[in-house]
Amino acid sequence: MAYTIKAHEISSVIRRQIAQYNEDMRVVNVGTVFQVGDGIARIYGLEKAMAGELLDFEDGTVGIALNLESKNVGAVLMGEGLTVQEGSSVVATGKIAQIPVSDKCLGRVLNALARPIDGKGDIEATETRLIESPAPGIISRRSVHEPLQTGLVAVDAMIPIGRGQRELIIGDRQTGKTSVALDTIINQKGKDVVCVYVAIGQKAASIAQVVNTLEERGCMDYTIIVAATADSPATLQYLAPYTGASLAEYFMYKGRHTLIIYDDLSKQAQAYREMSLLLRRPPGREAFPGDVFYLHSRLLERAAKLSDQLGSGSMTALPIVETQEGDVSAYIPTNVISITDGQIFLSGDIFNSGIRPAINVGISVSRVGSAAQPKAMKQVAGKLKLELAQFAELEAFSQFASDLDQATQKQLARGQRLREILKQPQSSPLSLEDQVTTIYAGTNGYLDNLPVNEVRSFLVELRQYLSTNKSKYGELIRETNTLNEEAEALLKEGLTDLLNNR
Ligand code: ATP
Ligand code: MG
Repeated sequence: MAYTIKAHEISSVIRRQIAQYNEDMRVVNVGTVFQVGDGIARIYGLEKAMAGELLDFEDGTVGIALNLESKNVGAVLMGEGLTVQEGSSVVATGKIAQIPVSDKCLGRVLNALARPIDGKGDIEATETRLIESPAPGIISRRSVHEPLQTGLVAVDAMIPIGRGQRELIIGDRQTGKTSVALDTIINQKGKDVVCVYVAIGQKAASIAQVVNTLEERGCMDYTIIVAATADSPATLQYLAPYTGASLAEYFMYKGRHTLIIYDDLSKQAQAYREMSLLLRRPPGREAFPGDVFYLHSRLLERAAKLSDQLGSGSMTALPIVETQEGDVSAYIPTNVISITDGQIFLSGDIFNSGIRPAINVGISVSRVGSAAQPKAMKQVAGKLKLELAQFAELEAFSQFASDLDQATQKQLARGQRLREILKQPQSSPLSLEDQVTTIYAGTNGYLDNLPVNEVRSFLVELRQYLSTNKSKYGELIRETNTLNEEAEALLKEGLTDLLNNR
């Protein structure tokens, strides 16, 4: 039997094979660990790794390539890395660090990689976002023009914050920094602002307390908590703020208003210093690496007020920085002060003298927020600031004088009462109309004849009286955002009614 070779049959088989050839070619970039310890791994043979690329270790640990050197790659591990062995293989995933995001993150407590840690089950993600995404450019932004009210009289009247602003909260330990931030979250209730609270290097118990406070006040349904506790690896403490920013960005680019709190950036800088020293980067001032300014500037630049074309969302950032003995000229405080649009300075001396929130109004500033201050507040706040400044000077001076003339005594009496109206208990932010009432009563001398220790109880009574008997007053302010003649008349009536009945 003779075999004939049919050329067309063979060629058609080959043709079919070629047509069906669709095997994926994947080049896998694999390296070998040659040194591991202290949460750092050095890897040989990962020549093609990108800066910031995610690496998969053989035992399941995930790492990030940070140092790309000529013969090796230095990576930080997002975990203890106790089971990573010398000589084990590492695969570069080709992905830059990213997190899953969705609307379902609201009300949840997440870790630095946006995985839930509150035991309420998994979160279905609709999208992923890069942990480090570039900040919006100049064209994408517009200037800050809407207020973000904190509910604290001292801040809203004299250091006003606008949506999209970055305002630093700075002070020694235990001076009420966290409380100012939490009051601001509480005050966003019903104002359609998504809040993200990033806890960096704090005790788990403190974070639990924050969650508790927010839950009690019914604020968790618009809040996300991102927590990297003190015992978590430095990598996670370093990443947590960026993760928080990505979550806020997700909502901002959908046109929502967002507020993000970084509590606190000193701890993040310390975590970054630890990582950098272990990676053998050269230490600079206070042993921080040279790029510690960039660490915070690229984070805070992501806060923005977006243009109308981009949906006019916003991200307001309230970073917190801890000082030692009120020293604002240390490295991290000066860096962050220069990046932000102003600072709220909390002082230990003021706190201990019983004035809380312990805001040092004299050296606190807000560089952009006054453009966003509601008109009603502008009308009453100007006088407050001036009189308080005069009082501070006079008080220092009058300590040495024995007999003071009547005008000076009057001014001192006024100042003491004005200082009283700035005191506010924790977790009790005031609405705009209540703040206007308070300041108006103080600066127009209605409180001058009351004993100083009765001022606060009188103000509580006054606000109560107005909301029950003169409800039109609150409505007018809410509708027009101004203290017009009609509202002012109602306020005056309320004040004289109450003062006459005493
Ligand atoms: P840390 O440095 O530990 O983070 P912190 O600066 O964040 O502290 P907080 O934890 O906010 O300070 O507050 C310190 C203490 O002061 C707390 O016990 C808190 O209850 C109290 N405190 C804060 N604000 C007020 C206030 N307005 N009125 C009364 N007490 C307050
Ligand atoms: Mg705190």
